[in-house]
Amino acid sequence: MSSDKTHIFGPVPSRRLGRSLGVDLVPFKRCTFDCIYCQLGRTTNLTMERFPFVSPQAIHDELAKRLINDNYLDFITLSGSGEPTLCKDLGRIISGIKELTDIPVAVLTNGSLLWDKTVRQELMNADLVVPSLDAGSARLCQYINRPCAGFDFEKYVEGLIAFRREFNKPVWVEVFMLFGINSIRADVKEMADIIAKIAPDKVQLNTVARPPAEDFAMSVPENQMRKLAEIFSCPVEIISNQGEIHRGISVVATCDDVLSLLHRRPCTINDIASGIGIHVNEASKYIGELIREGKISSHVVDGKSYYQARQESIV
Ligand code: SF4
Repeated sequence: MSSDKTHIFGPVPSRRLGRSLGVDLVPFKRCTFDCIYCQLGRTTNLTMERFPFVSPQAIHDELAKRLINDNYLDFITLSGSGEPTLCKDLGRIISGIKELTDIPVAVLTNGSLLWDKTVRQELMNADLVVPSLDAGSARLCQYINRPCAGFDFEKYVEGLIAFRREFNKPVWVEVFMLFGINSIRADVKEMADIIAKIAPDKVQLNTVARPPAEDFAMSVPENQMRKLAEIFSCPVEIISNQGEIHRGISVVATCDDVLSLLHRRPCTINDIASGIGIHVNEASKYIGELIREGKISSHVVDGKSYYQARQESIV
């Protein structure tokens, strides 16, 4: 069980969740899926086995410290460097956060473990759950999500339906659209029929915006996304190409990459993200580590926070 790692990152500005503080619950990159579009790269530990990766107390202590300095948050978002429901203490972690603060808790999950009553139960204290569904058939799910051995598409869908029935707070289903793969009308209709049975509060249509695990996972143009949105019977929100990471944190760069950029010029989090080609979540996480290590300083110019390397950190 890890205790020395930083589990809290951000806050990051999120179009979907406002100002959101992230909680990273699983080690990189442990997931039940190995999606062709994953921005974290290929899954290195493809598993359905749940494990107590982090102690709830460590998360709560770290979060309590963060909330002393920053309480103006729209959400505390549980995600991770993979699939957060693989964290066995998820329920205790959520309950403890609810005791610490009134800030709503969101969970971004691929939904693959929702067939498990225990997992569904552990999510009951969350305020918003965003599971995903990228395919209307087992065949397409296998191609796009490349699930762990033992995964059963029918069970997955039943889990999503059961969770929606039991969870009386908002559920948004995220669909990742891929050009020429699941963006064909007949395939979208099949998926929309399943989503109608789930009956989420809304569907979020997302597409590739960051480098995917596989080159052939390509984005769907926004005008096509708008046409496909009409196929769904529940409210649809389109997350455009400027949209956000689909769960988890990209871990492509290193702290040294960020430090090296900040040696060259002061940057905002967004400058770092676009400068190195990483997601703002990942940039925020590295910034937090570098500040704690005393290697960088921050100052505010025109309402924006800029980060700069300290001279003594130049090697
Ligand atoms: S996109 Fe999400 S569900 Fe798919 S492999 Fe990446 S972390 Fe796992």
